[in-house]
Amino acid sequence: MQSSRRNEMCTKCGIDSEKLYNCSRCKSAVTRYCGRKCQEEHWPAHKPICTPLKQDEVWGIKIPPNASGRLLGIGGSRGENDPGRLFEHVLIKADHHVFSMRGELCPVTQLVGLPLLVYSEAFATGVGLDANNQATVYLRIEPENGLAPLHWQMNGPGTCIVVRQDRRPLTRQAIEAMWQFTAKLIDGFGYARDSDCGWAPVQSVMTPASWQIFSRDYYQQQREKGRVGFDKFWEPL
Ligand SMILES: [Zn+2]
Ligand SMILES: [Zn+2]
Repeated sequence: MQSSRRNEMCTKCGIDSEKLYNCSRCKSAVTRYCGRKCQEEHWPAHKPICTPLKQDEVWGIKIPPNASGRLLGIGGSRGENDPGRLFEHVLIKADHHVFSMRGELCPVTQLVGLPLLVYSEAFATGVGLDANNQATVYLRIEPENGLAPLHWQMNGPGTCIVVRQDRRPLTRQAIEAMWQFTAKLIDGFGYARDSDCGWAPVQSVMTPASWQIFSRDYYQQQREKGRVGFDKFWEPL
């Protein structure tokens, strides 16, 4: 482990410490630990992204087609209910289309302070347009009506790539929480009137404060279920 002098929080336990250590293998600038114990306990979550990044690489998320959104439910530990299968870590080149005009900014994520860009290979190439990707459609909703733009509804976007606009690593845990947040917003728009989400008017909760409360609670709920990677909220997401 290498010493870091920045006064930030341990990725695992959240302790605020002047002396934190980077992972010596990947030297990630955003994963830091207060000591060996926290590093070891965090390893199952960190392992998938423990790779020394090249200058032109960014950690993003791949969402395979037929990711059928909240209908799958969350919290299961195997098979289709495993959100780990819904969101895959992938290394993205800095000149990937997602960062160009072909990447679309998800407006709700921008409103809440975690701007995400999404890219559909099928929309870009016209190949594979039939495959549904409901999880990505949720992320892409417009704040005015809770619906994705027409081209997202008319054609299945197939496999999608999602990255943080600020090019910091996007983790599975963060995108899962954001997806659940958008699912709750969609409930709030009244498309599922039976399940009152208790949020009205919906636009008033599209704020960084609401997102932070939601995601902090969500991380805590997942921790209580014993899921790895939800150790601490916010930095790094
Ligand atoms: Zn710690
Ligand atoms: Zn590492």
